[in-house]
Amino acid sequence: AKRGGRGRILRFDPVMEEELHGRLSLVSRLAEAQSNGQFSLVYQPQLALSDGTTFGSEALLRWQLPEGGWVPPDRFIPVAEDAGHILSLGEWVLRQACLAQVRWRDGAVGRLRMAVNVSVRQLRDENFVRGAERILTACNADPRDIELEITESHAMENDQVLAMVRVLRGMGFSIAIDDFGTGYSSLSRLQQLPASVLKIDRSFVTDLGTLPESRSIAATIVKVGHELGMTVLAEGVETAEQEEILRSLGCDAVQGYLYAKPMPAERFERWILERSP
Ligand code: C2E
Ligand code: CA
Ligand code: CA
Ligand code: CA
Repeated sequence: AKRGGRGRILRFDPVMEEELHGRLSLVSRLAEAQSNGQFSLVYQPQLALSDGTTFGSEALLRWQLPEGGWVPPDRFIPVAEDAGHILSLGEWVLRQACLAQVRWRDGAVGRLRMAVNVSVRQLRDENFVRGAERILTACNADPRDIELEITESHAMENDQVLAMVRVLRGMGFSIAIDDFGTGYSSLSRLQQLPASVLKIDRSFVTDLGTLPESRSIAATIVKVGHELGMTVLAEGVETAEQEEILRSLGCDAVQGYLYAKPMPAERFERWILERSP
């Protein structure tokens, strides 16, 4: 038996056989998906807990199949990473997100920070910085308005990744540590990262009202984040009770279905405009 990607135990049986074929066909379809315009981005608002204003959004990738239906990112991103597609796909995502940020900035929506998920494969790519610079210039985007989200485990992975994060920070990008609390990073390692945002993983937020452990983990993350001068953002907030607990813990910002699901650009724009006074 072999340990699967999400902690499941996979055995070499017919089910695995099917998984393998599913993976292969995903690989072959990923390449055409990009040129055939099957990818799009949706945007989820990020709000300040103090006054409820929306200060940013996270761009999330969607893959719609021509025969109908969606492939969830949790399923195709790992495949794209293994197959190397994530490099061109990630560039496409960064470009689309920058284009939207600039369109909003220069239009009725106004200046919002745009958070973009970045895979560790991109961070290990020596061409990433040049590609990012090209995109910023082409879109006329200010890197201070673009936040690169890097998952905790990857951000801490090795010195090469750490060095890359420092270069990106030096270019002016904002850095967020995603899914915080799920990895095993030491505090000294966390201190070395030039990140300005710490995102509490959804798993802790989900159990905030029911599990005392989740509440103390969240409380600790808020304390550690503030100690290191970071803004702490909780993801996956679904209930008013969770919001209330996060507020009592001193958490700075929130994102989740309680406020809005990820939306296509036009709907996001309408959502913002309907809420502004
Ligand atoms: P993530 O970065 O942790 O993104 C948060 C996920 O939680 C998103 O799932 C979002 O739709 C979902 N979510 C937000 N609020 C709530 C809530 O209140 N309740 C629940 N149940 N879920 C909520 P999504 O869009 O399916 O993305 C899954 C993962 O795929 C992301 O997790 C991220 O790791 C990856 N991903 C998505 N887009 C990209 C991308 O452009 N590039 C890379 N490298 N990874 C991406
Ligand atoms: Ca994220
Ligand atoms: Ca996350
Ligand atoms: Ca996640």
